[in-house]
Amino acid sequence: RIAYVNGRYVPHGEACVHVEDRGFQFADGVYEVCEIWDGYIVDMTRHLDRLARSLNELQMDWPVERRAMESILRETARRNRVKKGLVYLQVTRGVARRDFAFPKTPIPATLVVTARSVPPGNAVKIGEEGIAVVTTPDIRWERVDIKTVALLPQVLAKQKAVRAGAKEAWMYDKDGFITEGASSNAWIVNQDGTLVTRPAERGILRGITRAAIMDFAAAHDIKVEERPFTIDEAKAAREAFITSATMTATPVVKIDETPIGNGAPGSVVSELRARFHEGVEKLPLSV
Ligand code: PLP
Repeated sequence: RIAYVNGRYVPHGEACVHVEDRGFQFADGVYEVCEIWDGYIVDMTRHLDRLARSLNELQMDWPVERRAMESILRETARRNRVKKGLVYLQVTRGVARRDFAFPKTPIPATLVVTARSVPPGNAVKIGEEGIAVVTTPDIRWERVDIKTVALLPQVLAKQKAVRAGAKEAWMYDKDGFITEGASSNAWIVNQDGTLVTRPAERGILRGITRAAIMDFAAAHDIKVEERPFTIDEAKAAREAFITSATMTATPVVKIDETPIGNGAPGSVVSELRARFHEGVEKLPLSV
């Protein structure tokens, strides 16, 4: 495997950043994950738009020009021969003597890109079986709209899920409304087939896959309600699912100890999953 680190492609096992990198010391950095599907990068434009926003919110500059970033994402995927899988990018504020405030003089940002294949069989199995989720209080900071590498609350939430034999944790706010998954957005399907998901204004990351599902729904006359829903409403829903770049739309068949619907993936999410790539932006790895 090959990784990109600050202008160079290096063997993955030797890919390193400095001990005084602010990403390492303060989680002072942002990231993106794009799906690679059938030799295409999915929704790169939207991912890089969101990266631009994350960088801007943290007063960070692009580490390279956007066009160069696109080339690096493609090249890293190509060099790792990824046809189905993911490409990961991380930007940190750079390397400086440890001090909380930003360095007074500008320093070069750190850019790291990795890519890896995911065996297609995994996705098939998960689509057929669905996943279980556990609920856990959302203990994150208020700026969860920024895709930062400060992910400790999600690390703990995911570990709780794994320990319970589940694949994802759904976090809930102080009023008992689900915010989102540790690394995904949360959805339910009403008895009448309406999709329900929390509004993106507050309390969640504005998922790119979430937006793609909204587009699909709009194009196929599927109703979407953007409103918060409670754990109890989710447990009583006809179907439930998560969305993320690496999971597309994945059925949730159990929340805590409660089976959803008849405990098997529902027809709505199964169709969303099967047809997910129809409408998304697909950019070939080689141009
Ligand atoms: N919410 C959180 C907290 C995430 O970490 C992620 C993805 O990592 C998502 C939602 C899904 O976002 P996307 O569809 O852009 O992958």
